[in-house]
Amino acid sequence: MESDDRRVLVALGGNALEGRGQGGIEDQVAGVARTMVRVVELIADGWQVVLVHGNGPQVGDLVHRDAMNAGRAPAYPLDWAVAETQATIGHSILNALASAGADQGVDPAGAVVVSRVLVDADDPGFDQPTKPIGPYLDEEPDEPAARWTLIEGKGWRRVVASPQPRASLDLPAIRALVAGGATVVANGGGGIPTVRGPEGPWHGVAAVVDKDLAGAMLAGELGIATYVILTDVAGVAVDHGTDDERWLGDVSVADLRRHQADGQFPAGSMGPKVEAVCRFIERGGGRAAIGALDDLAAVLAGDAGTQVRPD
Ligand code: ADP
Ligand code: MG
Repeated sequence: MESDDRRVLVALGGNALEGRGQGGIEDQVAGVARTMVRVVELIADGWQVVLVHGNGPQVGDLVHRDAMNAGRAPAYPLDWAVAETQATIGHSILNALASAGADQGVDPAGAVVVSRVLVDADDPGFDQPTKPIGPYLDEEPDEPAARWTLIEGKGWRRVVASPQPRASLDLPAIRALVAGGATVVANGGGGIPTVRGPEGPWHGVAAVVDKDLAGAMLAGELGIATYVILTDVAGVAVDHGTDDERWLGDVSVADLRRHQADGQFPAGSMGPKVEAVCRFIERGGGRAAIGALDDLAAVLAGDAGTQVRPD
């Protein structure tokens, strides 16, 4: 891929969406605003940015409301909840892009695509829910948990299936908007998980796809050479949280895979990010990085965060 390709796919995690507050709507709007200032700085510098965002807290809130309303309102399907978060988070991103664009004198031309991601109906993820969504609950809730599983840890938590993303079903529309120069937001919340029976119609299923994996897939599908995952730590560490903690700067995929095999990256946090950047590079991507939101420009320049290279 050409080195003059000034396109980057940026995946945004919870911290980039929520700010540092309690995760209420105002905090989300403030967090998104702060993040889009950084994104527009890249656009002003000549980059085209495609955004994928997470939705764990937001889809969890919708499920929580649904559970609270059991018997009083019709049950709300999880795929509808994922679609709803694409719209609500997407609209705050559009406002924040427009505001930051006005301040910085550029037109970011934001566009949000309601986007579906193909998953296998028999993905093992459906038998083994792994994705925690929404708040910790003090007590085990008394609810018909057909669409989620309850697990106990720091408190009770709802956990949903997280099948592998196979393809971005709305790629033609996403591609057309990217070609037109828009700052496209797509596969939000990992994309709406969608299956198709042998002959049957397309339909959504009860799951939440991992956004880091859906972002890696979309970057590959669009032929974007650079994939950046922004989170709330400076990069990837080995022996994280111990006295031997060591932050990785430049690292090859092979070395990262070795640390992964050593069990360095927990499934609920750094695990999917590492898997996503490895897959991206192994499938022909040029460069991937994991770093902190406030370091975005430096991460993209290769001067901060964990930089993952083919060899
Ligand atoms: P996001 O919401 O941005 O997707 P997560 O909370 O899922 O982020 O993952 C980021 C978190 O992963 C960090 O806050 C950090 O505490 C944790 N983490 C776990 N293991 C590691 C590791 N080996 N290196 C760096 N961070 C790690
Ligand atoms: Mg998080």
